[in-house]
Amino acid sequence: MKFPRSTVQAALEQDQFRLVYQPIVMLNSRDVVGFEALARWAHPTRGEVSPSDFIPAFERNGAIAAFGEWVVRRAMTEAAVWHRRARELNQAMYLSVNVSGYELQQFAYSEAVVTICVDCEHRCQDLRVEVIESFLDLDRQEVRANLETFRREEVFVMVDDYGTGASDVHRLIELAADALKLDISMIADIETSPDRRRYLEKLSTIARRAGLEVVVEGIERESQLAILLALGYQLGQGFLFSPAVPAAEVGTLSHH
Ligand code: C2E
Ligand code: MG
Ligand code: MG
Repeated sequence: MKFPRSTVQAALEQDQFRLVYQPIVMLNSRDVVGFEALARWAHPTRGEVSPSDFIPAFERNGAIAAFGEWVVRRAMTEAAVWHRRARELNQAMYLSVNVSGYELQQFAYSEAVVTICVDCEHRCQDLRVEVIESFLDLDRQEVRANLETFRREEVFVMVDDYGTGASDVHRLIELAADALKLDISMIADIETSPDRRRYLEKLSTIARRAGLEVVVEGIERESQLAILLALGYQLGQGFLFSPAVPAAEVGTLSHH
């Protein structure tokens, strides 16, 4: 899909975007530990456009920088309410946002995120950034600088869609990533594929030894959940627990 950059600016000004939030839960208790912000675009003529279509278009036209900043600011503003409540109850509740590789390759990116945290009175420790493995290219100085800032500020770095790219867990451990998100494709055939279960069992052991947190994405069935629990996985998200919901509905899901 093609969208000129000016369209994106106009859409931001006209409030055509919104965020929805999908809970991330403890698999054994289903207690919510955080939410992932996911973008939605109600386009005036095309209807709902999927982020899988518009994010790549925004990366091509350069609009992703302004858009990404809007996402972080909006998410922190909306999350302020449930974060305050979580603190009162002494519960951990993090906010996870998706970051495009393009953003991670801009020098000032992480500093801009930290500034927004300060503006929104959001604790950096309660923020997580999700980035795809292939963009964690340490040969790029900008990427290194951004990762260093995130480490210094205790912003948790998660590798999104793990299993769709190189899937090099050892490199990610060396890189000091904090967490992996297992892609939905990694668990689609978990009930019928012994090979897949063996692989996931090894991965769970390696991750646990390295202190790497793992969140399993796209859990839709009780049968998948039972296997994941048996293999030692602790965190996940998916339609089995809840789809992404508007900010106003987060409160009803979040407190246990
Ligand atoms: P992602 O970060 O891997 O997000 C997971 C996607 O899986 C979301 O799709 C979510 O709605 C969907 N999902 C969650 N649970 C289930 C399940 O049980 N079954 C199935 N089949 N799907 C499930 P969504 O919201 O369409 O987002 C697609 C992708 O667009 C995201 O993948 C992310 O890469 C990107 N994206 C979304 N919002 C943003 C954003 O604000 N900034 C950036 N840079 N990318 C974003
Ligand atoms: Mg994600
Ligand atoms: Mg993913």
